[in-house]
Amino acid sequence: MQLYNKLSAREREAMLEEAGEDRLTISFYQYAKIGNPELFRNHLFVAWDEQEVLGRIYVAHEGINAQLSVPAKRFDEFKAFLDGIYFLKDIRLNIAIEQDMKSFLKLKVKVRDKILADGLDDKTFDVTKKGEHVNAVKFNELISNPNTVLVDMRNHYETEIGHFQGAITPDVDTFRESLPIIENDLKDFKEEKNLVMYCTGGIRCEKASAYYKHRGFKNVYQLEGGIIEYTRQVKEQNLENKFIGKNFVFDHRRAEKISDEVIAKCHQCGAACDTHVNCANEACHLLFIQCPSCAEKMNNCCSDKCKEIHALPYEEQKALRKGKHNSNKIFKKGRSEVLKFKA
Ligand SMILES: [Zn+2]
Ligand SMILES: [Zn+2]
Repeated sequence: MQLYNKLSAREREAMLEEAGEDRLTISFYQYAKIGNPELFRNHLFVAWDEQEVLGRIYVAHEGINAQLSVPAKRFDEFKAFLDGIYFLKDIRLNIAIEQDMKSFLKLKVKVRDKILADGLDDKTFDVTKKGEHVNAVKFNELISNPNTVLVDMRNHYETEIGHFQGAITPDVDTFRESLPIIENDLKDFKEEKNLVMYCTGGIRCEKASAYYKHRGFKNVYQLEGGIIEYTRQVKEQNLENKFIGKNFVFDHRRAEKISDEVIAKCHQCGAACDTHVNCANEACHLLFIQCPSCAEKMNNCCSDKCKEIHALPYEEQKALRKGKHNSNKIFKKGRSEVLKFKA
């Protein structure tokens, strides 16, 4: 899958031609103050339903976060509609030509409390007063400045397989946890140092940069479009790549290789490996790093116990699961006690 951003007219034409009758998957987000999210939601739904848009869109008082698919032939119409909304005019879109056509089956536009579940109390600060967006060139420049502190706003299982050289990578399971940790580490430099942050696609930094400005940091910068957009610019403009390893992504690919270095270890044997898998025991489903030889030995499971359960007939496994919650699913990614080489 290739990502396209900020297309020139010619690039867009080529992309639409390539897509033909296909659909495009598009994602974008924007923090903005929306007075009546319900009304805005209805406005979007009516227009997009007519344009045969499918997808999952969240609207809140704080903005919009959209993942959707649009028939390639109707892209111009879709874009014109977005440009008609003042805070979405010329918004950066992540666009890919959809191959399996299975991303979305319906159009769902939902009003939520938040567009990103961040656990923060919004009323304390203004999310639209965010840090300065920087592109890959400026970002490279900033992070080679000794007066800069570079912070990775992602979680431990993401930074474990790849991050920027020299970045602080807080050992956290959630975004909310990382904010005070970083603030405490940097509290003596609020005025002098450059605080530069990045995440996967940029959305977490939108919030984090506003938070840090509110907390008194003077020079706050964020990588626009995150690692995804950085990688694209590095390739397109032949810039020096300062990201090592893989970028963890939230679709079926799991991760995108950005440099050849393997910076992580198999959680079971310690061999160099950066491939995330989920434990094959459905009652566990733990996300962890497993090398091919451990995968074979453990039958794709995280522990001997899971291996035993996984070997049972399916009906028996189901009976065992009954009434039990799947505790590893979300917050214990890669943290299980059974893994000897977890980071
Ligand atoms: Zn291994
Ligand atoms: Zn397991």
